[in-house]
Amino acid sequence: MTTLLPAWTDDEGARRARDLLTRTFGPGEARVWSAPGRVNLIGEHTDYNAGLCLPVALPHRTVVAVRPRRDRTVRLVSAQEDGTRIVDLDDVRPGAVAGWPAYVVGVAWALVAEGLVPRERATGFDVAVDSCVPYGAGLSSSAALECAAAIALDELWGLGLAGDDAGRTRLAAVCVRAENEIAGAPTGGMDQSASLRSRRGHALLLDCRDGATRHVPFDLAAAGLELLVIDTRAPHALVDGQYAARRESCETAARELGVASLREVTDLPAALDALDDPLVRRRVRHVVTEIDRVERFVDLLDGGPPAGPRLGALGTLMAASHASLRDDYEVSAPELDLAVDTAVAAGAHGARMTGGGFGGSAIALLDAGHAGRVAAAVTDSFTAAGFAEPVFLLAPAGGPAARLG
Ligand code: ADP
Ligand code: MG
Repeated sequence: MTTLLPAWTDDEGARRARDLLTRTFGPGEARVWSAPGRVNLIGEHTDYNAGLCLPVALPHRTVVAVRPRRDRTVRLVSAQEDGTRIVDLDDVRPGAVAGWPAYVVGVAWALVAEGLVPRERATGFDVAVDSCVPYGAGLSSSAALECAAAIALDELWGLGLAGDDAGRTRLAAVCVRAENEIAGAPTGGMDQSASLRSRRGHALLLDCRDGATRHVPFDLAAAGLELLVIDTRAPHALVDGQYAARRESCETAARELGVASLREVTDLPAALDALDDPLVRRRVRHVVTEIDRVERFVDLLDGGPPAGPRLGALGTLMAASHASLRDDYEVSAPELDLAVDTAVAAGAHGARMTGGGFGGSAIALLDAGHAGRVAAAVTDSFTAAGFAEPVFLLAPAGGPAARLG
């Protein structure tokens, strides 16, 4: 039987992280924070082109229980990883921290590097992590971990940044630096903004040109709809080099066109005419049309709860986005194509791959109550194709990173 991966309640998440902290490092006071993973509704590979994207925070969150220390030591444990780790904050620099602790101590490092906390106030801590965000599924478990750490340290070190959107914007930039420079993973910034700056029941329209946001109503339950996330479990072969190659194509194209970024392309046919390389032309066509699709998607959502022709139009935009990512940007995978095709055949109003691609997850917009049936159809098609069994979850738009207790 196909099951949906449940999201924890706040109480359950807090209890799990606290228990892990106590089991690992002994009894004592602890405070708890959590931050969500995210799924992008539309606007893929647009963030590093100064474009638009439209993520929603997942109800699935990463929880950290934290206890301050007086020295410069960080002791870490995660329910998702083996063993405990110890890192001295003075040893954190690019290339120096192996594995998952880099996402946590990288945030501590970046808060100092950004000048948001003086080094002497940045004291050590014990931290226990637990999460119901799937790993490596394109749902940004990495940003959930960074942002949970960021909001915890903001309070632990008395920075007061999490209290308003301007402060949260700075925390998001800190998390991007942590991931890029200490964890050594490229990230464009959408994930951290989604995790820190979202609003429950809304999608976050993020303009990556200037970091401006707008909360777009996205209350699917009120519209009799639900969003099914299909984690394909497809292996992420070649993904690192491919991401860098796509970014480079976009930067090269922008240079050739004499614009700061592909966001500035206003006349697509003229831009395509001006580019020699057919491959680069297709990459540019994806980015420019995808940014336009985000605008049209948001216009439709602004028109009221999705229903009738507006719901059909949303589905059409999702299909066009998937086709563009598959054919022009070439970042889809057989598993993603099959998940999308099967979901649509099983009655989804729209479906598309989401996240960076080459595996990861797809989303499908469904009538409420149809998730079990569509998930079963996708599972059957995966079995028949010899693919790994996918994992499913529902994604009503969740709230941002917050203190739990
Ligand atoms: P995604 O963000 O799509 O889930 P990434 O490869 O960017 O995939 O991030 C996954 C990595 O983030 C993990 O390999 C691990 O290093 C770190 N991570 C995420 N969540 C946790 C967690 N709960 N505990 C420990 N490490 C985590
Ligand atoms: Mg990630």
